Amino acid sequence: RRAEAQRSADGPCRTVDGARIELFANLGSRADAEAAVAAGAEGCGLLRTEFLFLDRATPPDEAEQRAAYTAIAGVLGDRPLVLRLLDVGGDKPAPYLNLPAEDNPALGVRGVRVSLADPALLDTQLAAAIATGCRIMVPMVASVGELDMVIARAEALGGAAASIGVMVETPAAAMTADLLASRAAFLSIGTNDLTQYALAMDRGNPAVAGGIDGLHPAVLRLIAQTCAGAARHARPVGVCGGLAADVLAVPILLGLGVTELSVPPSRLAAIRAVVRRLDLRTARDHARAMLDQPSAAAVRAAAACFAGEMR
Ligand code: PEP
Ligand code: MG
Repeated sequence: RRAEAQRSADGPCRTVDGARIELFANLGSRADAEAAVAAGAEGCGLLRTEFLFLDRATPPDEAEQRAAYTAIAGVLGDRPLVLRLLDVGGDKPAPYLNLPAEDNPALGVRGVRVSLADPALLDTQLAAAIATGCRIMVPMVASVGELDMVIARAEALGGAAASIGVMVETPAAAMTADLLASRAAFLSIGTNDLTQYALAMDRGNPAVAGGIDGLHPAVLRLIAQTCAGAARHARPVGVCGGLAADVLAVPILLGLGVTELSVPPSRLAAIRAVVRRLDLRTARDHARAMLDQPSAAAVRAAAACFAGEMR
């Protein structure tokens, strides 16, 4: 059975009508990398680097970061590794960063804002990523200037050739995707945060979190706008948020123009199976229709019908 799983994981992932979809894994450790390779991942679309930075008294220096990224890259072999710059904030505290307590951490100093406020922190991350040949992904971008500053620091550190992309997880980034794509090598949509910010519902607040669904037509329209903006500059768009691992969402994402999915290693097989059964032309019509549904529940119902017809 193991050999069978490995065989079906082999070979590039394509839709029925031949469109190439890259299937990557989200990683937070070396053990995740091993699980991802065993499940046939084509690379890592999101390395959550927080595992190195939390629960300690001092930040990891460049050498320690290099060692950790080298170990993960070694497991991945030739496969690409997209490293996300540190994404801590008031809700994920790192005492040595001296971040202020905030009433509203989701709207405070988090993501790229933390790195830009601490030049040494940004430089050690960039230097370690460049030295280990990782692609670099910038979290929580809301303005083009934030990306420009990261690119400028990478260039100053000898990383002019580094592939630097943006996580689209604020509505501002989705709505200015064309501007970001003119500077970035790739875009990757973080649907977890994009959904909480689009719906103004805190992911971590149980009183509203149950109502959060990334298939809300507002989120789908932001994804459509992201794909349209990226297409103007021929930049690829991936999804690394939870929607990429949702079998009902995948036909809609691909239909809107997403060409890369990054999911937890345990979801690779299920998502690969959906992609391989999908006809992209049909998915485009389906996706367009979903933008005009009145609610996430209506999208889910229609997506369940679509999935039923695929079988
Ligand atoms: C996201 O926001 O969708 C994402 C992938 O990042 P995280 O869940 O780590 O915030
Ligand atoms: Mg996020």
